[in-house]
Amino acid sequence: MKRRTFLFNAFSATVICFVPAFLSKPNQVFAGNKKYIPSSLQIGNECISCGACLPECPTNAIYENGSNWSMGGKNYGENDAAPSGASGFYSIEHYYIVPDKCTECYGYYDEPQCKAVCPVDCIVIDPNHVESKEDLVKKKNNL
Ligand code: SF4
Ligand code: SF4
Repeated sequence: MKRRTFLFNAFSATVICFVPAFLSKPNQVFAGNKKYIPSSLQIGNECISCGACLPECPTNAIYENGSNWSMGGKNYGENDAAPSGASGFYSIEHYYIVPDKCTECYGYYDEPQCKAVCPVDCIVIDPNHVESKEDLVKKKNNL
């Protein structure tokens, strides 16, 4: 096969395979060669514990560093996993988000409210708790 034909075929295959997939899932973002679907959010180490995000959360998913959290009338502590099995989100260093309770504000607002008010922009997508939009809908309905 001629080099020009080969390049044209490779380009066409890329467009045919990836463009429709991207357009059908506009919420997906790409980081390097990894594909993440926006999920529950997490708070990074840059958090200055100012507390601005906490009252903005419609699902009460945000907690102060070192405090216990609750869900469905049950209290949880540092060593407890969430009902979904998610773990590792608790923090004594900074505010934290319980992934089972964060819908990315889906069903309440057009954008994550905590992210919008954070003065140091330390609230990011949590790649360990990736969820599709359908997951977020289910989560919202179960809260
Ligand atoms: S994205 Fe929304 S639901 Fe999730 S923690 Fe932030 S304010 Fe709460
Ligand atoms: S608004 Fe940002 S800096 Fe302030 S407590 Fe929340 S995550 Fe931390």
